[in-house]
Amino acid sequence: MSRYDTVVTNARAMLPGLTDPAAVSIGIRDGRIAAIADEIASSEADQGVDAAGRLVFPGGVDSHFHIGIYRPVEQDAASETESSLVGGATSVISYFRTGSHYLNKTGPYREILPKVLEKTQGRAHTDYGYHIAPMTTAQLDEIDWLVSEAGINSFKYYMFYKGLNLAASSTDAAAYTMSDSYDFGHLFAMMEKIAEADRKYGDRGRISLSLHCESAELIKLFIERVKSLGLPPLETYHRARPPFTERLSIHEAGVLASEAGVRVNLLHLSSADAVKAVGQIRGLYPELDIRVETTLHHLSLTYDMLEGKGLGGKVNPPIRAREDVDALWRAVFDGTIQWIASDHACCLEELKQDDLWPAQPGFGGTALLYPVLLSEGHHKRGLPFDRIVELASSNPAKAYGLYPVKGALAVGADADLTVIDLDRELEVTPTLLHSAQEYTPFQGVKVKGWPALTMLRGTVVYRDGELVAPASGEFLKRPLSRRPQAVRS
Ligand SMILES: [Zn+2]
Repeated sequence: MSRYDTVVTNARAMLPGLTDPAAVSIGIRDGRIAAIADEIASSEADQGVDAAGRLVFPGGVDSHFHIGIYRPVEQDAASETESSLVGGATSVISYFRTGSHYLNKTGPYREILPKVLEKTQGRAHTDYGYHIAPMTTAQLDEIDWLVSEAGINSFKYYMFYKGLNLAASSTDAAAYTMSDSYDFGHLFAMMEKIAEADRKYGDRGRISLSLHCESAELIKLFIERVKSLGLPPLETYHRARPPFTERLSIHEAGVLASEAGVRVNLLHLSSADAVKAVGQIRGLYPELDIRVETTLHHLSLTYDMLEGKGLGGKVNPPIRAREDVDALWRAVFDGTIQWIASDHACCLEELKQDDLWPAQPGFGGTALLYPVLLSEGHHKRGLPFDRIVELASSNPAKAYGLYPVKGALAVGADADLTVIDLDRELEVTPTLLHSAQEYTPFQGVKVKGWPALTMLRGTVVYRDGELVAPASGEFLKRPLSRRPQAVRS
C-alpha cells in the first residue's frame, strides 16, 4: 500500500505565511493534505499529478453565491458549482432566503432549510454552505437553532428591501419579501440575536451578519428622475441607484451594528463612495468587527463597456464608472477590502429581455474568481499572489468559520487546490464558463491566468476545460472544527 493516495509534484505552492510560492510536493491521503515537503517521490503515491512548475493555490472559497434564486435549487447546484471549478473555487457559500424567487414561499427555516439541503445534496461539484436571511419576526427566534445545530453561522439583511417599491411594478415590499415587518426594527432585533449567538457560540467560529447596503427609499426617487434623461440603460441603472445610497446604508449599518455589538460583513461594495464610508465607520467604531467584500464584476466592468450589449449586466448594486473601479482596486491593495466573491446568480437570458426595469438583476461569474484576480489584479496591477490567495480563499474562509480546513494549503487541511496556468490568455465566452447561463457580461473580455486543474478533497474534478468527476460536494456544517497543523517548517 502506498503512503499517499495522490502526490502533487513540481508545485509552486502558495503556503500560508509565505509571500512567494514554495517549490514543494504535496502528499494527499483520505482527501486531506498529509504532507508538504521539498520532494515526495511519485512512487510513494497511487497517483501522481505533475504541476510542472506551475502555481498551486488553495481552492477558492466563493462566499457570495445564489444557488436556486431563479431556477430550481437542484439545477443550479449542479451546473453553477461546476462553473466554480473552472475558476478554481472548491467551496461556495450561498445566500438563501424565504420570499419571492428561490422556493417562492415562507415558513420556518427548521422546515425549509432541510429541504434546501436535500435538493443540493449529491448535485454540487464543490463543497457548499448556506448563509440564511431571517425575513420574518418568527424566523428571528430560529437564529440560536441555526447556529447551534444547523451549521449556519452567517446571516443576511437586505437594506434595500426596506421601503421597497419594485421599480414601480405592481409588487409591493411585503408581497416580495413575504415578511411581516422588514424594517430597521427587524434588523436591530436580528443584530441582537446574532450578537447573542456570537457570545454563546462564537468561540467555535465567527458568527456574523452580512448586509446588502443600498437604500430603497432613495432609489424610488431616483428611478423617477432618471427615466426622462434618455441615457443608455446601464448608465440609467447606475444613476437610479446612486453610490451615495450605498454610503448612507453603510453609515446606518455602522450605527446599528455598534449599538448591537454584532460582527458585520458589508457585501459587494461597488463605488468610491462606499469605500470612503467604510473608512469612516471603521474610524467611528474601532471596536467593531467590520469585513468588506467586493465582486469580480465591480472590479472589472464599467457600464460603458456593457452598453449596447443587452441587459445582461443589470445587477444590484449596479455596474458603475471607471473611477469606482479604480477606487475599489485601491481598496483591495490598501486592505480596506477583505475578500472578493462572484455574487453568482444564474439568470437566464429570458429574464433579461424587454425593458430595463422588469429585467431581473444578477448574473454568473464564479468561473472567473481566480482568473480575474490574476488577470486584472496580478498581470495588470501587480497584486501579489499571497494577497490573491487571501482575497479568494483564506479571508472568506476565516470570516465564515471554514479556516483552516478550507482556505489554506496546510497539513491536515482538506486537499482542495487549483493548479494555475498563469500565462494562458482566453477571451471569455459563455461556453468557457460551464454555467447554464447562455450569455455573460464578461463576453469578449481578455482574461490571462486560468486554472488548468482543480481538486476537491483529493479528487481531480476539473482538468483542461473538462469536468472529470461526478458531483461529490458536501455540506459545510459550520464552523468546521478540525484543526490542521500550521505549515511545514
Ligand atoms: Zn448577492
